[in-house]
Amino acid sequence: MNKQDKKASKDYEPILRLQECVNFRRRIKMIAKILSGFYFLIPGFLLLATGAYAADEEIIAIPVTEQVYMLTGQGGNIGLFTSKDGTFLIDDQFAPLTEKIVAVIKSVGGSYPKFLINTHYHGDHTGGNENLGQGGTLIFSHDNVRERLSTGSFLNEFNMKRPGLPRDGLPVVTFSEDISFHLGGDSIRAIHVPHAHTDGDSFIYVKTANVIHAGDIFFNGFYPFIDVNHGGTLKGMIIAVDKMLAMSDDNTKIIPGHGPLADKEELTAYRQMLATAYERLRKLKAEGKTAQEAVDAKPLDDLEATWGDGLFTGDRWIEVIYSGV
Ligand SMILES: [Zn+2]
Repeated sequence: MNKQDKKASKDYEPILRLQECVNFRRRIKMIAKILSGFYFLIPGFLLLATGAYAADEEIIAIPVTEQVYMLTGQGGNIGLFTSKDGTFLIDDQFAPLTEKIVAVIKSVGGSYPKFLINTHYHGDHTGGNENLGQGGTLIFSHDNVRERLSTGSFLNEFNMKRPGLPRDGLPVVTFSEDISFHLGGDSIRAIHVPHAHTDGDSFIYVKTANVIHAGDIFFNGFYPFIDVNHGGTLKGMIIAVDKMLAMSDDNTKIIPGHGPLADKEELTAYRQMLATAYERLRKLKAEGKTAQEAVDAKPLDDLEATWGDGLFTGDRWIEVIYSGV
């Protein structure tokens, strides 16, 4: 988008400012501001959410192991596994970025993705599906992901509607529990965790490389979005994190859905925060408090400095997740 376009619409100013933020944290804060204060700018946010502003974004490949990379750009972090048996991709951000993503994959020695797995259905993780499907990539996901992608969805929390994807964008192979891939001397296992961030999440474990892609079960460093209207629950998030922790050791590299590359220690700290929040919110719920009363009780005040400066403030987070506690 050129400077003239930027001047053209004052309405889109928050969105355009957002685009200019190079620092991840600042960008995330800006999203939170837009979400909390500019709900009426739906067309602008929709453009952002569907990736219409994503074409300018740079894709960066962060080496995780010899065969594994984390790709950052706009949207959820991508996991990349390269091998002589083919390239395996975990999530694919937004459609306008597909070409760049493929170019970056090739620049680190990978080939056009042979396999793609969607950790869940959200548009910032599945936006490239149609492009890749048309390019011949075989797409895998949990059953519920395919269902959501084919019927379309509405995210109440972000006032964000997404139509169903055409056939090329839909997973070709779906599974209800777990599925394993055997490539390049390693094994990659997708493990379904029920009712966590959504009702169709999988996290991905690359065994020999000792890498986990957590999908949106893990927002590293800030309160996570939990899609309670599509089966997500805080309790399920904690159970899913415990499952990942049980498979991790001190050398495990963990690619979060959002935020910087992490290790077991950071995932443990995140688990602690989720468990503390669950305990306190659960208590308020047992006392019959409404979401607003729970917010007013300020149960997460001591967590705010560490976790509340990302996507959501503690207050907003409680509003978003309370019905799923
Ligand atoms: Zn998500």
